[in-house]
Amino acid sequence: LLRFFLPLLYRHERALYILPMNRKKTPEASEIADIAIVGGGLAGLALAALLGEGGADVLCLDRDPPVAQLKPGFDGRTTAISFGSRQILEQAGVWPGLETAGQGACPIETIHILDGRTKGPPLVFNSGEVGGRAFGWIVENADFRRCLQQRVAALPSVRHLAPATVASFDIGKDSVTIETPEGFHQARVVIGADGRNSFVREWMGVGSRGWSYRQQAVICTIVHEHPHNHIAVEHFRSEGPFAILPMADDAQGRHRSSVVWTADAGRDSPLDWPQPVFEAGLAARFPAWYGKVGLAGPRFAHPLSLNHAHRYIGPRMALVADAAHAIHPIAGQGLNLGFRDIAALAPLLLDAIRDHRDPGSPDVLDRYQRLRRVDNMAMAGATDQLNRLFSNEGLTVSLARRAGMKAVGRLPFAKRFFMSQAMGLGRSATGK
Ligand SMILES: Cc1cc2nc3c(=O)[nH]c(=O)nc-3n(C[C@H](O)[C@H](O)[C@H](O)COP(=O)(O)OP(=O)(O)OC[C@H]3O[C@@H](n4cnc5c(N)ncnc54)[C@H](O)[C@@H]3O)c2cc1C
Repeated sequence: LLRFFLPLLYRHERALYILPMNRKKTPEASEIADIAIVGGGLAGLALAALLGEGGADVLCLDRDPPVAQLKPGFDGRTTAISFGSRQILEQAGVWPGLETAGQGACPIETIHILDGRTKGPPLVFNSGEVGGRAFGWIVENADFRRCLQQRVAALPSVRHLAPATVASFDIGKDSVTIETPEGFHQARVVIGADGRNSFVREWMGVGSRGWSYRQQAVICTIVHEHPHNHIAVEHFRSEGPFAILPMADDAQGRHRSSVVWTADAGRDSPLDWPQPVFEAGLAARFPAWYGKVGLAGPRFAHPLSLNHAHRYIGPRMALVADAAHAIHPIAGQGLNLGFRDIAALAPLLLDAIRDHRDPGSPDVLDRYQRLRRVDNMAMAGATDQLNRLFSNEGLTVSLARRAGMKAVGRLPFAKRFFMSQAMGLGRSATGK
């Protein structure tokens, strides 16, 4: 198993800059921001907050109005935030609000790993074995977005413009002109944080490597009879992982967990099952110690795919988070990886601005790419291999897998390794 968490392959790809046509447009931009961020999702706003904390003049543009992003149907997911990401959010001034937002962030203190239909005991990771610090915290994405929006609004050097759909760019000698239907903006460097179907990546002419998993993640919130005791459960099943993530109790004191149910895409999706059938499926998958379980809200589905950009940078542009790498959620590491990008990029940009150097210069952007590619490729490879390994019910593979899990359980150094990965401490937060 250890091998799957080691960098699987690293192919150095020479940056190939494709220069877009200069359309000689001279917009009436009243001021040039230091940095423009395209995409005010979780990664884009966190980057805006980090840069704003450092005093940079930042413009963050998003196509969806902020209030629309807080509506209950917009994003019913929760996010497992690693200890490393918590440190970044502390630096951005977001964590104190997020820890107590809504019903509060819920710490993960124990992780149970179950394999296939095996009835044996789970492989248990206990935070007590690594100093008692929580593995991570489960936060509701709606609370997360609200806290980020509030933090950014409180920072005087950050402008959050939404709705503003970025439609084109014009790269000049010292700055980039950004075109939206509402008007033009200028910045010295543009950061694409516009998600897995990134417009910025496409506009830069950057290709990517990836594939569909032909799986979907069905997400929902569950209420259960007994407390979860801060335990997260990852049950690897042949159709894909089934994860139960502990949440804070709701306002009525009901015990809650968030479910990520991976299923084959396309046919007979649990998303479409009648509620009693879905709840029976849940009951069959939940360990008995949770007691009675029931659905506490709507179900959402997300198609799963891997996508890794061939390069992260171009003239006066860089990609971060899902725009650069979207991975399988099997280990709950997608955004955590994106946070390591922004923690690597922000100090490089801030140092350049402070030293009166150009934040969009090739050496600044090159340095960022060098810091982040190996880590991101390793995690993309590891999650891909984990998904294949645990979805394979072939006799040889499943025997090897069970032997591997037993070995990890017995080897303290291997357990500690996995636990530090889960906490986001595998590499330093800055990727150095
Ligand atoms: C089922 C599931 C569970 C997950 N669980 C976890 C977890 O527990 N832990 C974890 O770390 N990660 C998790 N992830 C991964 C995580 O959700 C993503 O990594 C994260 O949402 C990516 O954030 P982002 O800001 O890069 O992109 P997005 O959230 O996609 O944001 C992109 C933003 O860009 C805007 N935009 C797009 N195009 C334009 C344009 N042309 N102009 C202006 N704005 C634009 C969009 O409106 C959007 O707001 C999970 C993913 C899935 C699918």
